[in-house]
Amino acid sequence: MPHVVFIGAGPGSADLITVRGARLLSQAQVVLFDALTDPALREHAPQARWVDVGKRGFGHATGQAAINEMLVHEALTHERVVRLKGGDPSVLGRLEEELQALATHGIDCEVVPGVTAALAAAAHTRRPLTRRGHGRSVSLTTAMTQLGVLQATRTADTEVFYMAGRQLGALADKLMQAGWPADAPALVVSRAGWPDALVSEHRVADLADAEPLHAGRPAVVTVGAGAGPSVATSPQDPAA
Ligand code: SAH
Repeated sequence: MPHVVFIGAGPGSADLITVRGARLLSQAQVVLFDALTDPALREHAPQARWVDVGKRGFGHATGQAAINEMLVHEALTHERVVRLKGGDPSVLGRLEEELQALATHGIDCEVVPGVTAALAAAAHTRRPLTRRGHGRSVSLTTAMTQLGVLQATRTADTEVFYMAGRQLGALADKLMQAGWPADAPALVVSRAGWPDALVSEHRVADLADAEPLHAGRPAVVTVGAGAGPSVATSPQDPAA
């Protein structure tokens, strides 16, 4: 009976995977993995054939249709196929399309959650996404529409934007159009969860200043309550 396990690898270093994810990974015969996952995860499944499907979150080396096809093919020819995805599979990871492809072929599956980039960024900066009294809601939002158009929103007290790293200046304008005050706090964290994570602190209006520091690195932009200073200082906190 073919069975595919989707596993969230976490956003950074290999030890951010869950215990369940690591256990199921160790049983894999084939692993289809995203480019943003830590190569050290191979140590969990040295027996498996590891296939880089090259998805980077910004620009896809392998198109989604080809990934779906490959996944179905591997699932029909192997019993234990793992689809290893960066962060959490259910957050901006096109999981639905892959689930649909498997369902079309009657292939069973399981999804193991992972740590999404927004949470690693909050942990790294010691800046909680919710704040008692003024931060009751959090939104995880892609800054890119399906058609590749930059779009911002103000739907929650804390809004975390994914996939905006290359256009922070333009994002600032969109944020203000969406109703964020020019002086609302904004935090950019790139490579959250990795040892070389970088953080910069801004006001919405000055987000463009972050571009050179984070160029070419996956980054999330936290805006609003969760981007404000927290009581803890951290070595990575530029304001500390
Ligand atoms: N499923 C993933 C998100 C994939 S979309 C998750 O749950 O984290 C790809 C986007 O995620 C990137 O453009 C970037 O905005 C963000 N991202 C992925 N890894 C990151 C990291 N280590 N640090 C900061 N942002 C990251």
